[in-house]
Amino acid sequence: MISIDNVSKWYNPQFQVLKNCTTQVEKGEVVVVCGPSGSGKSTLIKTVNALEPIQEGTITVDGLSITKMKKDLPKLRSRVGMVFQHFELFPHLKIVENLCLGQTIVLGRKEEDARKKAMKMLERVGLTAHAEKYPGQLSGGQQQRVAIARALVMDPICMLFDEPTSALDPEMINEVLDVMVELAREGMTMMVVTHEMGFAKKVANRVIFMDGGEIVEDAQKDDFFGHPRSDRAQLFLSKIL
Ligand code: ATP
Ligand code: MG
Repeated sequence: MISIDNVSKWYNPQFQVLKNCTTQVEKGEVVVVCGPSGSGKSTLIKTVNALEPIQEGTITVDGLSITKMKKDLPKLRSRVGMVFQHFELFPHLKIVENLCLGQTIVLGRKEEDARKKAMKMLERVGLTAHAEKYPGQLSGGQQQRVAIARALVMDPICMLFDEPTSALDPEMINEVLDVMVELAREGMTMMVVTHEMGFAKKVANRVIFMDGGEIVEDAQKDDFFGHPRSDRAQLFLSKIL
């Protein structure tokens, strides 16, 4: 589903942020990406829907090369759902409008159909009652569930998450993780940057550990938690578990 091959990226000639990264995410797989701050996790995940350009290597999603896309990029990007740490909802639009915009503009759906789909997805994340509110009127956990619903109305073929719970108060983390766990169990292909190792243990198939722009470890979940091979991963785990 997602294929990342020998990807390297420089933010400037002196600073290589991704070093020869290679990994694959199969259809229906949940892959957790972890590693210390500044190791390149956000950058890697953003390259998958071309929010960050790469200088070397190739990335394909569902067989289509992200790096070669021009005209069709917005459409492909819309099918690769992305959820960020800080929700990134449109503050001046109501919740339901946040969920309709991409459907009408990018996918060309009729307003009426978009709205129907939006309401269905809001029901799924338990936020029907908030459809006519603005993002600022919702809690962080609610806003993040809206952000997930906004990605889902586009019928994504996979979902990317970048620390979706790290800006949330502790009591709101689970309501967001629960939605993600459900998605994973339904077979959504997911790449998730997170420090929530409980989530990783529960639903991940594989764990990727990054350090210094490299994929240092790419292992089945049980192998990663049971016996991480590298010293760097062991050190990381000893700090957060
Ligand atoms: P964190 O856990 O703190 O979110 P991360 O693993 O997601 O970290 P990245 O955000 O991918 O790390 O950043 C990797 C490195 O690239 C860091 O050293 C960061 O300072 C640098 N970096 C990130 N974005 C840019 C940019 N736009 N221009 C220059 N350097 C950047
Ligand atoms: Mg990051």
